[in-house]
Amino acid sequence: MRVCVFGAGYVGLVSGVGLAHMGHQVAIVDAVAERIENLRAGRVPFLEPGLEDLLRAGAAAGRIQFPESPGAGLAGSDISLIAVGTPSENGAIDLRYVLAAANTIGRWLPSADRWHTVVVKSTVVPGTTDGPVREELERASGLKAGDDFGLAINPEFLREGCAVKDFLEPDRLVFGSSEQRAIGVLERLYGAMSCAKIQVAPVNAELIKYASNALLATLVSFSNEWAAICEGLPGADVETLMRGVHLDRRLSRSDDGSPIHPGILSYLAAGPGYGGSCLPKDLTAARASARSRGVSTPLLDAVAEVNRQRPAGVVEILRRELGTLEDRRIAVLGLAFKPGTDDIRESPALPLLGLLRSAGAQPRVWDPCAPSDGAASQRFATPQAVLEGADAAVLVTAWPEIAGWPWPELVTRMRGRTVLDTRNALRGVAWPAGVRYVPIGKGPDPS
Ligand code: NAD
Repeated sequence: MRVCVFGAGYVGLVSGVGLAHMGHQVAIVDAVAERIENLRAGRVPFLEPGLEDLLRAGAAAGRIQFPESPGAGLAGSDISLIAVGTPSENGAIDLRYVLAAANTIGRWLPSADRWHTVVVKSTVVPGTTDGPVREELERASGLKAGDDFGLAINPEFLREGCAVKDFLEPDRLVFGSSEQRAIGVLERLYGAMSCAKIQVAPVNAELIKYASNALLATLVSFSNEWAAICEGLPGADVETLMRGVHLDRRLSRSDDGSPIHPGILSYLAAGPGYGGSCLPKDLTAARASARSRGVSTPLLDAVAEVNRQRPAGVVEILRRELGTLEDRRIAVLGLAFKPGTDDIRESPALPLLGLLRSAGAQPRVWDPCAPSDGAASQRFATPQAVLEGADAAVLVTAWPEIAGWPWPELVTRMRGRTVLDTRNALRGVAWPAGVRYVPIGKGPDPS
């Protein structure tokens, strides 16, 4: 099939490249010309393992194009995928990019030489596909969805850092449309994939995406609330607590009794709070969408509030350890919202850095690939440099290499000896005498 993808970000680019790998003919367009220039040269503008190789292979096979204009990309296409950003604007979803893409597609639709199906891949609040998107397409084209062109939503569940694998081996495919013909088009598009596929009304496809992300955010805040409880209780330890919780047979055993370790358990773990381009914004949008319909969301509100407070809780632990943060050099290890990505959108490191600065501390940052936070923090390229003269180190992103650093030598470079581990990723390190290793979610030693 011939597909035109709108948006060359994490979702659009991975989807486009993935669909080309599956044998489709893909054109990818983006509002940012420089991004397209880089892609034409085979350069992916963000870190995503495996993506650049697959992009180059697809381009070399003639299955991926980056046309000059959306019109050129749409010409002769069967499907357009809208994979543009849906940021938050004053708490509510900002649909301007989705509607701009719908407008471009709508203006082109009357010239289509074949049946065309518009597929929303962006995460949009319930009612958007059959509401504003349909209206914009029909207004701009003068045509009718269902009669003259197809319309569907197919939310994306990939995770940054393993996006290519997630796209090519999805856990589920959700096809949301009220038209059987559009469902048939999606079935052909993903025909090769054998995962669970469900056909639902657009509103339910939109809800599935939000509820899935809200569940993950809820587990993180649940774990962090228990971490905060443990931090005040002599002898308590959230790691031990969670190990016991994970052993519930419904979380640790398959039907035949054999041990399993489902990925969801990684969200039942304490940390500095959830971040990234999806969980915070999607939770905010889902709450705002419910509020706009007169429905309150006390549970989701609490999930967001626990997360908002978490960086301050981490800074408080550090203040307790150091006495004061004034003029203290703090080595912040990791800026990306999780390992394996250079995405710092809504990373918990950002509020943490802000709180450290307002407490008078001098944060210094190390991250293997994330871009600068754009603020006053100094960046250092090596563990040696970031830890030199530091009063404390705070691990924020669990980059796996940090656990393998030569800590006995590194701590001798520090002015202080405190290592605060907000991911409990360094519990296995053999700390030299004199180091004050502070895991997250651990109460004071019982005396
Ligand atoms: P992104 O910011 O990385 O990329 C969006 C791209 O769209 C940008 O390159 C931008 O220039 C481009 N764009 C904006 N308007 C355009 C237009 N009119 N025409 C063409 N291009 C346009 O965003 P993303 O992370 O890929 O997210 C896209 C959507 O997918 C969002 O709704 C997001 O919530 C959802 N989503 C993201 C992830 C993720 O892990 N990043 C996972 C699942 C779903």
